[in-house]
Amino acid sequence: MNDGAGRYAPSPTGDLHLGNLRTAMLAWLYARSTDRRLWLRFEDLDTGRADPAAAGRQLADLLALGLDVDGDPVVQSDRIERYRTAIDDLTAAGRTYRCWCTRREIHAAVSAPHAPPGAYPGTCRRLTAEQIVEREASGRPPAIRLRADIATETVTDLRFGSYTGVVDDFVLQRGDGTPAYNLAVVVDDIAMGVDQVVRGDDLLDSAPRQAHLTALLGGVVPEYAHVPLVLGRDGARLAKRDGAVTLRQRLALGETSAQVRSALAASLHLAAPGEVVDMADLLDRFDPALLPTEPWTLTPEPCG
Ligand code: GLU
Repeated sequence: MNDGAGRYAPSPTGDLHLGNLRTAMLAWLYARSTDRRLWLRFEDLDTGRADPAAAGRQLADLLALGLDVDGDPVVQSDRIERYRTAIDDLTAAGRTYRCWCTRREIHAAVSAPHAPPGAYPGTCRRLTAEQIVEREASGRPPAIRLRADIATETVTDLRFGSYTGVVDDFVLQRGDGTPAYNLAVVVDDIAMGVDQVVRGDDLLDSAPRQAHLTALLGGVVPEYAHVPLVLGRDGARLAKRDGAVTLRQRLALGETSAQVRSALAASLHLAAPGEVVDMADLLDRFDPALLPTEPWTLTPEPCG
């Protein structure tokens, strides 16, 4: 075992679907094939409707597929103090500012032709002392943003190669006081010794922001592997409306966990359709260079 670690970081809002499970399988394969630990982290800050039983069910489903994890799962809502400390440290170093912009104001400003696509235009960074007093008097609690001193950052991704994306003055703490996703992920990845991040490629454009924040907080930027999503019949990202998409739903149809594992493995070109395989077999066969690069479209056929 080397000192590094990967992680799988679901939101515990319901049962994992086959797309989540396939990403988890990849996180497991990337970590285990490089002799890393694999942590499980429940990201429940944003959900607002965290289901306490969901985390246990998610862990049970991972284990049923043979995706074991190390140590006890980490739950973000238990770690609020760590996030606050990181924000306080950045503030003490002059790296943050308060922002009172509403979504609508930001939307109007970013539609302006000079703003880089997807970037916060820095409205509240340029407030005068008088304007700050006015906003404080409004009673609306401000968000806290990073005072970024770069506009883009380049990360290395095992699938996408060199990827350059926007780093704007992104939110570290929301107006309601909740630490923001980018901040919590980075604080946790540093604290947990994560040096390999495997997750869905819908999060690729977060990587430059997170890499920049990692460096600011004194961490080592991890290697990234943003992996293809699973799509439903309609070509959109797999969702509950696509029918029997969770492990439990597949079991209720009479399939076994082994059959579901086999179907996921086949979708990764690691097994023949219907072939019985365990995770040790898949580990032997795993070669990141041979993974399919296209999304997997889940067809209505059963896994068995
Ligand atoms: N919690 C995020 C999700 O469920 C994943 C975040 C990450 O892996 O960085 O999509």
